[in-house]
Amino acid sequence: MANAFSGQLDKATVLAWLLEKDAAKLQSLWRWADEVRAKTVGDQVHLRGLLEVSNYCARQCSYCGIRTGNKSIARYRMTADEIVQAARQAASFGYGTVVLQGGEDFGLTTAWVEDVVRRIKAETDLAITLSLGERFPKELERWRKAGADRYLLRFETSDQRLFDRIHPPLKAALAAGQVESNAPNNVSRWELLTVIRDLGYELGSGVMVGIPGQTWESLADDILWFGKLDLDMIGVGPFIPHPETPLAGAVNSGPDLVTADVETTCKVVALARIVRPDANIPATTALGTVDRVNGRELGLRRGANVIMPNITPLKYRQAYEIYPDKAALNAPTEDEPDTVMELLNQIDRVPGVGQGKRGG
Ligand code: SF4
Repeated sequence: MANAFSGQLDKATVLAWLLEKDAAKLQSLWRWADEVRAKTVGDQVHLRGLLEVSNYCARQCSYCGIRTGNKSIARYRMTADEIVQAARQAASFGYGTVVLQGGEDFGLTTAWVEDVVRRIKAETDLAITLSLGERFPKELERWRKAGADRYLLRFETSDQRLFDRIHPPLKAALAAGQVESNAPNNVSRWELLTVIRDLGYELGSGVMVGIPGQTWESLADDILWFGKLDLDMIGVGPFIPHPETPLAGAVNSGPDLVTADVETTCKVVALARIVRPDANIPATTALGTVDRVNGRELGLRRGANVIMPNITPLKYRQAYEIYPDKAALNAPTEDEPDTVMELLNQIDRVPGVGQGKRGG
């Protein structure tokens, strides 16, 4: 099934769709993506329990609310027992995967993560996705050997100058004394994607839509990269400014720059489905945040086949504020199993069975 529909889009076509404003024409894009989704991955929506294991982070990404420079949030790190308990709960809800996500927190040591992965694997049938930032290849190897199945590392933008502007290197944090140990990883994020793939993980990546300074042309390049990287999972979310960051209040204006709205995000989801037909593509929490009522549903109707309900204990969830007013933060019922099932029923889709590997 792999790539049965890919190769149909060149850059000019992708760009034209990104710039398209005609509602009737866009209906045909939504239909196209939905048909590809139905033919390749079917009507199952895979549920991945999202566990935000730590909000410590060594990095200073200029858009992110848990960047190390933000002193206004309380920091936490879940215990191994809390994580294993939450994973058991995810399994009891019928979810096929648990996603362990956190800041780039070197307090989550190699051995500690390895042990947590082993324990979850011993106690459940869950697939494990790790999303712990740019870690060292040796660590990634040990976690893979311990049983981790997938790794998520969004490249955010393929425009290197824009990437560098919003992701100061770790060594800047080291020089400022903000990171106490660990030499900076001298394998770039881009190179790490290959490392992850070569270690046998299913590879997830993706982009942010509407980063201040992001051009339509570079976003078209990003979408073509989804195909070139042969991604197994593609996460797409709109830029949402956080008040405690250097990009607080930043908004793109001007015809060359990408708007951070629901429609543009859905266009990227739809085009991602067309260039990577059998990938797993979530209707992201960020999409559900910019449109609390319809965001996830629109994502699922326009190419997505995954939801990641937040299963982080409520006492920690408030503090994992990568952007403000996150869905499932102030109204936690949004992510409860019954609410998710209601959404799937409304759109005639069914919960996924099993771990939901690529193409499944
Ligand atoms: S985006 Fe990730 S690496 Fe960057 S500051 Fe936020 S949690 Fe840390």
